Amino acid sequence: MARYIFITGGVVSSLGKGLASAALGALLQARGYSVRLRKLDPYLNVDPGTMSPFEHGEVFVTDDGAETDLDLGHYERFTGVPARKTDSVSSGRIYSNVLEKERRGDYLGKTIQVVPHVTNEIKEFLAIGEDEVDFMLCEIGGTVGDIEGLPFFEAIRQFAHDKPRGQCIFMHLTLLPYLAASGELKTKPTQHSVKELQSIGIAPDILVCRSEHPIPEKEREKIALFCNVRKQCVVAAYDLKSIYEAPLAYHDQGLDQAVLDAFGISPAPAPKLDVWHDVYDRIHNPEGKVKVAIVGKYTQLEDAYKSIAEALTHGGMANRVKVKIEWVDAELFDREDAAPFLQGYHAILVPGGFGERGTEGKIKAAQFAREKKIPYLGICLGMQMAVIEAARNVAGMEKAGSEEFDHEAGKKRFEPVVYHLKEWVQGNHMVARKADDDKGGTMRLGAYDATLTEGSKVAEVYGGTAIEERHRHRYEVDVKYRDTLEKAGLKFSGMSPDGKLPEIVEWNDHPWFIGVQFHPELKSKPFAPHPLFADFVRAAVETSRLV
Ligand code: GLN
Repeated sequence: MARYIFITGGVVSSLGKGLASAALGALLQARGYSVRLRKLDPYLNVDPGTMSPFEHGEVFVTDDGAETDLDLGHYERFTGVPARKTDSVSSGRIYSNVLEKERRGDYLGKTIQVVPHVTNEIKEFLAIGEDEVDFMLCEIGGTVGDIEGLPFFEAIRQFAHDKPRGQCIFMHLTLLPYLAASGELKTKPTQHSVKELQSIGIAPDILVCRSEHPIPEKEREKIALFCNVRKQCVVAAYDLKSIYEAPLAYHDQGLDQAVLDAFGISPAPAPKLDVWHDVYDRIHNPEGKVKVAIVGKYTQLEDAYKSIAEALTHGGMANRVKVKIEWVDAELFDREDAAPFLQGYHAILVPGGFGERGTEGKIKAAQFAREKKIPYLGICLGMQMAVIEAARNVAGMEKAGSEEFDHEAGKKRFEPVVYHLKEWVQGNHMVARKADDDKGGTMRLGAYDATLTEGSKVAEVYGGTAIEERHRHRYEVDVKYRDTLEKAGLKFSGMSPDGKLPEIVEWNDHPWFIGVQFHPELKSKPFAPHPLFADFVRAAVETSRLV
């Protein structure tokens, strides 16, 4: 049965709980253990699928088609363990399950209450797959004291209580603010936060303290004394230059040792950290630099394209260069010449997105990249925009557009080269969708196979012709335009295995121009950069040598 580590946060939000959890997962793996990481989010949305990336950052899609929190992306990037539907849950999902059971009569007439019905539902979720791994790391979103979080805190308290002693531990992240005037780190907020936890029956075993300054021994002792933890269990978390330093930094501060001690695992297996040393070296000792523009809509908030930014960093690591990302708002040149906004970049990436805003700018970005022979990677909407660009400017279909933007009934502005997906094959059954389906969870989601054309650029990049990538889209390039577009030079070099859904397009008379309907960024890792990103950055390096 797995040992459980519950990770909570206090004092303020955004302390990097997700990163700390992911780094701890990686360190336990380095000690030879198997791990799984989970996120429990207190918000009432059933999943983050319908939440604006402005508010919640990107939606991370799993192989089995769940739309989850971006922290699951961190978990995967650090541990390489593919996340599953059952690794992410929100209050909304829990309540919706409970209410569904209530309507079905499953509770046999009982009065439904937060304790025990909601907490039982959470505990059932926590227990899924408990026999599969050595350690299960469960992060609770939000901060202790949040009203919505209470059922989760109560559930983890009960869960630990139900298990044999020593099976579960609690790790709490806090902040030690620094008062410049007195030159001191203050421990009081941490004390209060721990008190809050204790008042709901949870005594933390490990305290991870974020701090901008070194924590003096005296303060560490004080925290240990007042918060009732051992001194070596007060672990410092300092600001890092790169998130990929986190496993080594936490190891140096003794986090993994403290965790194994808390479980009474002795002697602890020695850690093998070569992978992380190599990652560290590649991040800190680049041999060059390339500048890549991400032309998107949510450019004010980098979290909206988190996995893409990370995958580009991985691509840089594969080539031993630093990738400098610049965020370019596509709306700036919806109606203007794109050149002044896009000049000087060694590569252009147009990411996924929804809705019409900014799409004319993205189409111009694809045109600029094609004509100026700048490496271009179009992801999902970015691929659809590249196809529309080809249709309009090369194949002479002036009115080419996407059905996604023609919402006014009866008024067709575009010829839909990108159309609303009506049906597709998933495993061995057909999935059908209507244009007016619910917005939540109704897209083509999760891992699907694609077959690549032998001899194509992508087949060369992947080093094979069978791939599996994650999807999240409602629209798709209409295969009936394939001949017209291929005659114009845009090759459909990747298709769904039944040949009906275009998955990849590429220009052959171009150094590097690839559009993909899926999201390769979701599978890239620092220790295993995704081939598309590795090769895209390689092409950017070549462009940088030309200028
Ligand atoms: N809006 C487009 C679609 O639904 C693209 C989606 C995306 O980029 N993830 O097909």
